[in-house]
Amino acid sequence: MGLDLNIRYKGISRGLLNDKLAKSQQLTQADADRIKKVHCKIYRLHERIVRTNDAYSLKALALLMQRLEFKLQQYWKFKPDARKHYLWLYLPKCSCPKSDNRERIGTGSFIIDQECPLHGGPDYNELVRSKKKLRIKKSIAKI
Ligand SMILES: [Zn+2]
Repeated sequence: MGLDLNIRYKGISRGLLNDKLAKSQQLTQADADRIKKVHCKIYRLHERIVRTNDAYSLKALALLMQRLEFKLQQYWKFKPDARKHYLWLYLPKCSCPKSDNRERIGTGSFIIDQECPLHGGPDYNELVRSKKKLRIKKSIAKI
């Protein structure tokens, strides 16, 4: 009996998990199901990115994508390694160079477009801090 590797999202088949890899990693159906769930979360995340233009939300969603890539590595029984992440490249609105970064998967020296609304400029934590500062300034101005 083969595994059900079909990724279904919103009732539509979106592709299959890598069959050879599933065999070599000795995945069980439960493992495959966990991985498929992560892929569904990634589809939802894509939709949320498309719907928002808020700078903070976009950074937060990019951060969430990184967590999901770590989850995928874990469920595929690989060591967590951000250098091998690549799905972030395919996020909507990401303007980071594609082919140059595809060549760099595994090296850890990704090229980030500083204008990318997801990955460029100040990181999420920095944005949150500056937002707080802004709030403080505004509340001071009110006094
Ligand atoms: Zn990007």
